[in-house]
Amino acid sequence: MIRVYFVGSGGGSPSFRGLPAILVKREGWSVLFDCGEGTQWRLMKYGLGLTSLDAVFVTHMHGDHVLGLPGLIESMGLLGREKKLYVGGPRGLREFLTESFKWTRFNPPFPLEFVDSLEVGGMSISSFPSCHTIDSLGYVVKEKDRVNLNVERLRETGVKDWRVFRLLKEGKSVEVKGVKLDPETYLTTRRGVKVVYTGDTMPCEQVIRAAEEADLLIHDSTFLDEKEAHSFGHSLARDAATTASKSHVKALALFHISARYRDASPLVQDARRFFPHCFLAEDVSFYDVRA
Ligand SMILES: [Zn+2]
Ligand SMILES: [Zn+2]
Repeated sequence: MIRVYFVGSGGGSPSFRGLPAILVKREGWSVLFDCGEGTQWRLMKYGLGLTSLDAVFVTHMHGDHVLGLPGLIESMGLLGREKKLYVGGPRGLREFLTESFKWTRFNPPFPLEFVDSLEVGGMSISSFPSCHTIDSLGYVVKEKDRVNLNVERLRETGVKDWRVFRLLKEGKSVEVKGVKLDPETYLTTRRGVKVVYTGDTMPCEQVIRAAEEADLLIHDSTFLDEKEAHSFGHSLARDAATTASKSHVKALALFHISARYRDASPLVQDARRFFPHCFLAEDVSFYDVRA
């Protein structure tokens, strides 16, 4: 199970919705996606853990997604963090952080390791190009599949030797008293869940492909019916819903809602005409993703 916190669900400038930030937690590991201004304040206020973050991934270099990051890293340092922080993002992120630290006279007292992808806490994180007005990435978080041995079934056949159990679990065939036991007969695979976050994007093929069969798709839904949405590099709520439907996802979270919608319910109503299982991401709410 992966728990997804919508720390901030708006876009552009802060309003009654915070700027984009999504916290993904699994078994004590936590990874932040995007870090708009105000993110560290929210992580602290709601007890979501600031110093415990393992990694931060940024989708693109627009200010609403990245301006909170230098401050977040500086606070981690002031709070005495020592463990390494993994950081991933588009071209320019490393330079942006280095320059910010240089001019604010801050030297992180813990290592920053820049990565393109990562495996932590039984999850793999990888990126894909999304379709915005500048270089931008979306992210796929995939929980590892879990292979279990059906011990009951083996016991029914009279096998109790743990060494046999181990070999079968490793995918090897075993011969016991002249009977060949095949792993396929006794292994069950529990599929890990998949979460996809698009960042800012207009609808496009890359996103549809990356989101294929996701358990949760978090998609740019900046506007309801803005004619210029695509030329701004954004999506309408119904674009997000159409992508969700084409990608056969299980659930869709409408995210990056423009500050112009004090009441965003028309976005979700419109999206549901194209993909029923969708909801509005609300600030400081969470969603459990189960297979
Ligand atoms: Zn944005
Ligand atoms: Zn943007």
